[in-house]
Amino acid sequence: MVCRLQKDRNHAGGVGKIPTIMALCAMAGIVVLLMAAGCTEQQGTMATEENGAETLTVAVTILPQKQFVERIAGEHARVIVLVPPGASPHTHEPTPRQLEEISGASIYFKVGSGIDFERAWMDKLKGVNPRMTIVDSSRGIQLIAGDPDHDEETIADAHLSESEEESGTDPHIWLSPKNARIMVENTYLGLARADPVHAGEYRANADAYLKELDTLDADITREISRTQIRTIMVYHPAWSYFARDYDLVQIPIETDGKDPSPAGIENLIQQAKADNITVIFASPEYSTKSAKVIAEEIGGSVALVDPLEEDYLGNIRNVSAAFIQGGR
Ligand code: ZN
Repeated sequence: MVCRLQKDRNHAGGVGKIPTIMALCAMAGIVVLLMAAGCTEQQGTMATEENGAETLTVAVTILPQKQFVERIAGEHARVIVLVPPGASPHTHEPTPRQLEEISGASIYFKVGSGIDFERAWMDKLKGVNPRMTIVDSSRGIQLIAGDPDHDEETIADAHLSESEEESGTDPHIWLSPKNARIMVENTYLGLARADPVHAGEYRANADAYLKELDTLDADITREISRTQIRTIMVYHPAWSYFARDYDLVQIPIETDGKDPSPAGIENLIQQAKADNITVIFASPEYSTKSAKVIAEEIGGSVALVDPLEEDYLGNIRNVSAAFIQGGR
């Protein structure tokens, strides 16, 4: 840096001083190299002693991604979650404190499926920290197009342009373990690129986590095949990818984030009766009012399923058990 500055100055001032400047630069270069060698050694020692010097600051949108990053990077990463516990990625706005935190992040793993938080705030986050690398976790996932009422359509090319994101895709990709597998792989690639020194460790950790995901996936497939479950009725239609991957039909109660009309509720009651549904699934971040109305009418009950719990593996296991118990 010093050398470039001197060269520039020299370029403006004339050619006569070039040999002197070059000699100075060469000497400075050697000094810098020696210093760098010293620094590296020192940093290495510090990292092993205090475990802080080489920690990556990693930002993610939702809590399940925190588990993905932590299981791959372990102690080498500190994770900032932009949508905190209890908040919804459809409505959350970053706090001034979060914007301050994001300025120190070196990499951001976006969900990438067009979730409201990212559509609304990604540009602002990039503006706060232009040097931050953005990794799209959804790369390679077959996205479900349109609103969740039309979940049969899929987009062949999973990579979305801004305008396609605007037209709407179902953003809840993480809720299928098969998709989580792809997100974890993308997370590994981003972490390995950002911190190649630990890439081998990250690969081994990612493989161990992928193995657990595969076990979860196989268990769900087996459990579902043993039952008669075909249909799940859920308040917030977050489970379209889960339903697609395990051959279920998801019946959403809300439409566009709003409670259904009385006629809509009546229609849902008829559907629930026709499908012998006994449990209506609601989410902690939404009202359970209409779920309760429907459950009462069919003589069933309401169960809560959380799409955003940090313990991804444990949560998906519990949710699928609840679906299997309550679904028909
Ligand atoms: Zn949602």
